[in-house]
Amino acid sequence: MAAKRALLGTIKGPPNIVLILADDLGYADTGVYGSKTIGTPHIDALAKRGVRFTDAYVTAGTCSPSRAGLMSGQYQQRFGFEFNTAGAAITHRERRGLDPSLITFPKVLQHAGYATGMFGKWHLGTRDHFHPNARGFDEFYGFLAGAHGYFPLTKEERVYSTLMRNNTPLKEPDYLTDAFARETVRFIHKNKDKRFFAYVPFNAVHTPIQASKKYLDRFPDAKNRQQKTYNAMVSALDDAVGAIIAALRETQTEKNTLIIFMNDNGGPIYTRVQSNAPLRMGKLFLFEGGIRVPMIMSWPGVLETGSVYRRPVSSLDIYPTLCTAAGVILPTEVKLDGVNLIPHLRGEIDTAPHEALFWRNGPNKAIRLGKWKLIQAHDHVWLFDLESDIGETKNLAPTKPKILKTLQAKLKQWQGEMKPPAWPSKPNRRRVKIDDTLYELNI
Ligand code: CA
Repeated sequence: MAAKRALLGTIKGPPNIVLILADDLGYADTGVYGSKTIGTPHIDALAKRGVRFTDAYVTAGTCSPSRAGLMSGQYQQRFGFEFNTAGAAITHRERRGLDPSLITFPKVLQHAGYATGMFGKWHLGTRDHFHPNARGFDEFYGFLAGAHGYFPLTKEERVYSTLMRNNTPLKEPDYLTDAFARETVRFIHKNKDKRFFAYVPFNAVHTPIQASKKYLDRFPDAKNRQQKTYNAMVSALDDAVGAIIAALRETQTEKNTLIIFMNDNGGPIYTRVQSNAPLRMGKLFLFEGGIRVPMIMSWPGVLETGSVYRRPVSSLDIYPTLCTAAGVILPTEVKLDGVNLIPHLRGEIDTAPHEALFWRNGPNKAIRLGKWKLIQAHDHVWLFDLESDIGETKNLAPTKPKILKTLQAKLKQWQGEMKPPAWPSKPNRRRVKIDDTLYELNI
């Protein structure tokens, strides 16, 4: 441990921070996570310069609650944010959004003197009190709802989802993934002499499945149009990551920038183009395919290059990790569910970052404790040993009653700390038959 520590540099004061979030990306849809068909050289190169996580989790299988956990650093059920605020459309509901009394980590970084910018999808409320400019971002370029087309919208479409610069609606001529990269690059150049934080939640590769010719032409042999277009979207996302890293290099800020790349929830099954292999199911589910995501962290001189971290970590860890890196001592009344990952990644702490991780989506609940994973859906219970069965194929609930009981007790205790949902899930709930039981999807 001491030898490992000696290889790494000392931490030299607060870094710039770039947090890139993909949307609905398949677990296996980048080269470094196993894709053989979609080339992602920039994301792969980022992994070579930093730490790649095999067991990184988000707090929900859907966009909106997952982002609430990320921004607040707390299980979003603590404040009732269990379901999506809404889907693709702007709804302007007074109370559906990230509780304005919560202090987001962008707000903390802004207070600490960082120039803060957000470029992409918000999905944490559309009213003024939920707006990114009110939640810690000096600059916002993006949209507030849950989805957006990638090409200029018609007038009718713009009523439902509008691109904005701060509060001003606009029409974007470029392919949207290129536009978010362009805006981030501009922000980095503008703030290169300050300390900056860029949050870049691309809507790529969320539906609609749309790509421009430049990227489509890279996949002449795809098996069908939908797959070709999806691959092209991932390729555009990878180019965007490359453009952001190139901007850091050009401005000579790369060496002092902490970069995180992760994804907000697993790839959906219904589009039939994402691959979450070898994980089971996808978006909306509490099986691994819905909640385990790709994640890479790079901080030159501080984190080991080309390494792999295999213990479970959570998007809840982003808040304390970034605030500590920024040199902020958080007030004790800010209750966080995550931990600062840096000492774990540097080998200064040898224990697991979390004893257990928890999930709840209406009647569906889950816990991961060490190698064990329990999913409870209404009365049906699954118990998996993820170490020997990453694909969650063998239900051990009938044969491991003691472990089952331990996990159920911990899950119950956690649930006791959570609030009921502050608003209902979408009324058109779907039920999917899995292992002779009906699994209800709550969005
Ligand atoms: Ca998503």
